[in-house]
Amino acid sequence: MRGAGHRRTRPRTLILAVLAEADGHLTADAVRERAVATSGMDPSTVYRTLALFERLQIVHTLTIGKRVTYGLADHPHAHTVCDGCARVTALRDAELGDLRTLVRRDLAGFAATGIVIRGRCAACRPAPDD
Ligand SMILES: [Zn+2]
Ligand SMILES: [Zn+2]
Repeated sequence: MRGAGHRRTRPRTLILAVLAEADGHLTADAVRERAVATSGMDPSTVYRTLALFERLQIVHTLTIGKRVTYGLADHPHAHTVCDGCARVTALRDAELGDLRTLVRRDLAGFAATGIVIRGRCAACRPAPDD
């Protein structure tokens, strides 16, 4: 799909594909890098489209420290955040529905907008002997 027709890829479709492929969250800059590399689209289009997606609730944001990350909002999910490489991965599992129910039940009036599990991914964990 890297032939002459790639410029016809609609920016919205491409940005959705970038986020789907990430299987988690990306900063706007990371989305821009991937989208521009694939299609040569104008960087400002990437930021505009992400802002539009957020308004339409197609994506949701998760702020880690000062980094705003964007992820698909197509399915409820929790997030793991690596304190080493800052990668945000989406966890899509039916059991998360139970967690939301638990929060709703035990904290009346509390509407969970995100579940974040912090830690270190396998690549960032020190070797067992350290
Ligand atoms: Zn998310
Ligand atoms: Zn990591």
